Amino acid sequence: MQLTILGTATPYPVPGNACSGYLLQGGGASIWIDAGTGTLAELQRHTPIETLDAIFISHRHADHAADLFVAYYALKFSALRPRAKIRVIGPEALADRMADFLGPDALQGLHEVFEFTEMNGWADAVVGDLTLSWGPVAHGVPAFALTVTGPASAAIGGIDGIGGIEESTTKRTSTFTYSGDTAPCISLVEMAEESTVLLCEAGYAREALGENAVHHTPEDAGRTATAAGVGTVILTHIADDLDVADAARRVGAHFAGEIVIATPGNTYPI
Ligand SMILES: [Zn+2]
Ligand SMILES: [Zn+2]
Repeated sequence: MQLTILGTATPYPVPGNACSGYLLQGGGASIWIDAGTGTLAELQRHTPIETLDAIFISHRHADHAADLFVAYYALKFSALRPRAKIRVIGPEALADRMADFLGPDALQGLHEVFEFTEMNGWADAVVGDLTLSWGPVAHGVPAFALTVTGPASAAIGGIDGIGGIEESTTKRTSTFTYSGDTAPCISLVEMAEESTVLLCEAGYAREALGENAVHHTPEDAGRTATAAGVGTVILTHIADDLDVADAARRVGAHFAGEIVIATPGNTYPI
């Protein structure tokens, strides 16, 4: 698999950086993970919209979902000719809420171009050769983290001697977890326990809200990564008043593995 960063900005897009959005490709599938403002345009640098196999919306906040509206316009009203409905995995009643905003005719149109799968607990789905699992996290609104298992990228295969001779006969897999937006919670740790890479938010610059927290600080991201036992943290959705180098240093005080700052346009092997 490979993960391309479409945008990481929060709570609003800035020149050169869209809001939260990622493209995960592998196992014959392309999945757009979070449709933050500006990410539909960036997505098209890497894949045509109509060839997407699935769209995952972690929660309804605009910096993660707003471009689903214009994706609908692209698929419904443009010259694009998608080969099939695109599966949208999102929080409960997402289609109805979009139609409430767009107007009464939109509900039918949305169901013409999208195949909605509603998330309301722990569940999983297969897309191409990828297995997607999701579970609820702590963000004050229905919000979900995502774990994907699929073929390991050739770029990370067989270099540690474990793959070695067996690699020709054994299909190597890799597992990746995306936090979505969430305060630290046990369900995110559990979802990331089998993962080699955790794409984790750091939406808070500082610890302040105790049990009312709805984001990770950099320290939280380090602690979550250590508790889950992942090898790499890709830090994203970094609070707009946080210096990214300082954020990475703060993660490193609680996590001994590799720390990567998610950079728009970059692609990382998973
Ligand atoms: Zn949010
Ligand atoms: Zn957010």
